[in-house]
Amino acid sequence: MASFTRRQFGGFVGGGALAAAGAGVLSGFAIAQGKGRVVIVGGGAGGATVANKVKAAAPELDVWLVEMQPQYTTCFFSNLYLGGFRTLESLTHGYDGLKAMGINVVNDMAVGVDAGKKTVTLKGGDKLSYDRLVLSPGIDLKYDSIEGYSAEAAEMMPHAWKAGVQTKILKDKLTAMADGGTVVLAAPPNPYRCPPGPYERMCMIAHYLKTEKPKSKLILLDPKPKFSKQGVFMEAFNKYYKDIIQVNLTNEIDNFAVVKVDAKGGSVTTKDGNTIKADVANIIPAQRAGKIVHEAGCSEGDWCPVKPDSFLSTKVPDVYVLGDSSVATQMPKSAFSANSQAKVVATDIVAALAGKDAFPPRYRNTCWSMVAPDDSVKVGANYTAGEKDGKPVLVAKDSFISKPGEDAKLRQETFKESFGWYSGIVSDIFAKSA
Ligand SMILES: Cc1cc2nc3c(=O)[nH]c(=O)nc-3n(C[C@H](O)[C@H](O)[C@H](O)COP(=O)(O)OP(=O)(O)OC[C@H]3O[C@@H](n4cnc5c(N)ncnc54)[C@H](O)[C@@H]3O)c2cc1C
Repeated sequence: MASFTRRQFGGFVGGGALAAAGAGVLSGFAIAQGKGRVVIVGGGAGGATVANKVKAAAPELDVWLVEMQPQYTTCFFSNLYLGGFRTLESLTHGYDGLKAMGINVVNDMAVGVDAGKKTVTLKGGDKLSYDRLVLSPGIDLKYDSIEGYSAEAAEMMPHAWKAGVQTKILKDKLTAMADGGTVVLAAPPNPYRCPPGPYERMCMIAHYLKTEKPKSKLILLDPKPKFSKQGVFMEAFNKYYKDIIQVNLTNEIDNFAVVKVDAKGGSVTTKDGNTIKADVANIIPAQRAGKIVHEAGCSEGDWCPVKPDSFLSTKVPDVYVLGDSSVATQMPKSAFSANSQAKVVATDIVAALAGKDAFPPRYRNTCWSMVAPDDSVKVGANYTAGEKDGKPVLVAKDSFISKPGEDAKLRQETFKESFGWYSGIVSDIFAKSA
């Protein structure tokens, strides 16, 4: 229904006049008085799905989605763009589908939360009151975990771990590199967004080099001794990219952790003192939950503890934190996970505010990774709320993982399945046909 620039929005609410005013104070909108307002910060895999599912289940609720970007480029499948299998445009999605459902999409940045007054402050100073608040801001990068790395340095040595401009910088640098060049990929320490992502990226960059610049090298510097889907990735590295990829997994003294970069000089230094000159360096640093959850008081350290049966914050009442920002042990930080968690969050909110039935939470995740044309692998599980060492956690059940040596037909089916998943999840998040 409605979309607001910050200026229009300020005009409607009078720059903060909504604080603690409750739902239904806006005139000119079809808002049922007193039915409850849901404010969602972050219009990505988690947040946009919550907005969609709450509005679909209870159209009478007043749903606001605050997103700082006018469009969302998916990290998922962004490695395929680097490999030459997708365009960036095909990975970029707008909010028209959600607006058409009657969701108020505000293109602004949330900068503060007053949990006592139940308000969210936007960058320009306007405030939105809420009955339930949902925070799904994704990750922030810990630039200071690597000496010499910063937001400015990332323009020369991109992380490309938030998709869009950063992914394009990395692609352009690969395109501009001469044949025979050296590409370095510095993987992040745990926990981080998309555990198989760096290794799918290794395959996609190596595919590009193999087909366009076969004399080039791709060096993995990893601060971890092992990684997600390692068996099938190592098989793919050897099978398809033997002459291109060099894998360096760390030992017990973190020898292959990147500790320093010289972005202008183009060099990368590891903990054991080796300096490598890179023509292209993809530096993916350590990560933490998006800034707004820390402002809201939802975090403990870098991430946000939540109740596994609802994703309600354990620290702040009536606030949900989901997606990458949450501690969803043992669910990995993925778009599939965030989308699955969002459906539980939406059900919980609708039950609380609209008095409709909630059903027991069920979660699922699958992460596909493309390793070569017509060859994809996957890992996944179902999850239920349970306990481990006396602590509430999400417990994996029915888990599955691709195995080395699978036949080509099965891999091709997995490849096709992943493309079907992409179209499906994008429509499920943004209420659009992909
Ligand atoms: C290279 C790569 C490949 C990946 N591949 C896969 C894959 O194949 N499958 C899979 O399931 N997952 C994959 N992922 C992981 C997936 O992208 C994330 O786990 C998922 O997007 C997390 O959803 P989220 O809602 O937590 O955060 P996001 O989707 O990042 O959404 C957060 C949104 O919040 C907005 N925001 C942040 N702060 C504010 C604020 N203060 N005010 C307003 N807006 C704000 C941001 O602009 C952003 O749009 C991949 C990730 C990477 C990096």
